Amino acid sequence: MITDRSSFDGLVESYTPGTVFIDGAWHDAPRRLPATAKVAGDVLVDVGAADVDTMSTAIDAATDAFPAWRATPPARRARLLHDMATRLEADADRWMALEAVHAGKPLADARIDIMASVGVLRWYAGFADRIDGRLVASAEAQHRYVRREPLGVCAAIVPWNFPLLLMLWKVGPALAAGNTIVVKPASATPFTALLFAELASAAGLPPGVLNVVPGNGGEVGMSLVEHPSVAKVSFTGSTEIGKQVARVAADGIKRVTLELGGKSPNIILDDADLDRAIAGTAGGVFGHAGQKCAARTRCIVTESIADEVVERLAKAATSLRIGDVLDPDTQLGPVIDESARRRILEYCESASAEGAKKVCGGQAAAVQGPFVEATVFDHASNDMAFAREEIFGPVLAVIRVKDEAEAVAVANDSDYGLAATLWTRDVGRAHRVAAAIEAGTVSVNTPAVVGIETPFGGYKQSGYGRELGSEGLDAYLQSKSVIVDLT
Ligand code: NAP
Repeated sequence: MITDRSSFDGLVESYTPGTVFIDGAWHDAPRRLPATAKVAGDVLVDVGAADVDTMSTAIDAATDAFPAWRATPPARRARLLHDMATRLEADADRWMALEAVHAGKPLADARIDIMASVGVLRWYAGFADRIDGRLVASAEAQHRYVRREPLGVCAAIVPWNFPLLLMLWKVGPALAAGNTIVVKPASATPFTALLFAELASAAGLPPGVLNVVPGNGGEVGMSLVEHPSVAKVSFTGSTEIGKQVARVAADGIKRVTLELGGKSPNIILDDADLDRAIAGTAGGVFGHAGQKCAARTRCIVTESIADEVVERLAKAATSLRIGDVLDPDTQLGPVIDESARRRILEYCESASAEGAKKVCGGQAAAVQGPFVEATVFDHASNDMAFAREEIFGPVLAVIRVKDEAEAVAVANDSDYGLAATLWTRDVGRAHRVAAAIEAGTVSVNTPAVVGIETPFGGYKQSGYGRELGSEGLDAYLQSKSVIVDLT
């Protein structure tokens, strides 16, 4: 059982401070970036940070590596991805402890991240040698078929909340399909992405196929988006930055996948199994202190059961154990930093000012570090800022509605459409509401909205394109029609 930070000392020491990973080797970077332990605030290690020239070198390395990688037998690409998964799994305890401290998330959440990272690598390894083309019905003297080919150099821009996992949502399918990739991790959490590059290299991944280059998003990240050699940009982050990325990528007619923010609904109808609904609703919003794109932050509940639901949600929220992220019993971790905490608490003040009724939380938690109490506001409505805007903290807005039709209307009254959860015992209702909800994923009677095998992505301003599932692989392939005259 992991209880202290010495458990990942070896991982930290394996890294040469101040370096970035380009072309299969560590290179001194022109700048440095502190990779911090999120609660204590001390520096784990100074990682290398690129300038625009360093990023350009990484893109050149990925460009040079592409012809050989696309020509690598698919079965070998599969074996390499499997080998990465095996190495990560064999050392999972150290990785999850490091990710917990680095990203500021409870060990239980970090465990899910690391095991899901292993799963993503395996899932796309399974695809690498199963990428088929298509034979097309043809006129007699013609032979026509469709090849599926990689795109070339791909760019992955990753947020801080799931540093390793979301990077691998991009790296797994990109490499399986025969692309090379340059990863720009978030400046708040650059370290595990860098360490993964070393793991991949040790597994035998050829130089240049995976390059990991931290650096300032607006300058170095944007230079990656702009670079003419980059064929595709996969961006996960805020809607605001996603729009900038899409505009710039449009100039180069690059493929773009955008995984953006959300304000996802959690609908509890009057026939729901409330024991399951309460536990699932609390998990769906308070996991990782609400810092999840798909956090179900609006609880839409039918009036007839609302009093009971609110009372039980408050009980669930106040019973969450807050504390050390490395304590396996901790359920509610910190938010990413002090400025995030301030912003979240301002939203709580605005909720009260706009007429929502605070049921619990709404304060800084009484422990050291940027913790916020799990918070529930009742009598919210979609026209209150805290119920419309992404807060990225453990704050739930309860919106009371009269029936199923109003629940759907309120759920859909949002600029976002990433995910939704529904609690009902009525199978007809389940399918009817699932069809009516404007979101990329709808879960029924489970808070789980992400599965490796199913596509994940947004409707409306939550983005476009899909990651995971076979669609996640398609996003890194393009089709070529070949028409052969047989005469
Ligand atoms: P962010 O501020 O948008 O940053 C995301 C990434 O973009 C970081 O690597 C950042 O680098 C980089 N970046 C910043 N400005 C850029 C620019 N002008 N050009 C290119 N890259 C730039 O988001 P965040 O605060 O890290 O993450 C939280 C957001 O991500 C939330 O909105 C959340 O909903 C969303 N998210 C979505 C999903 C999904 O799958 N839909 C999953 C997780 C998170 P720096 O760190 O150096 O600024």
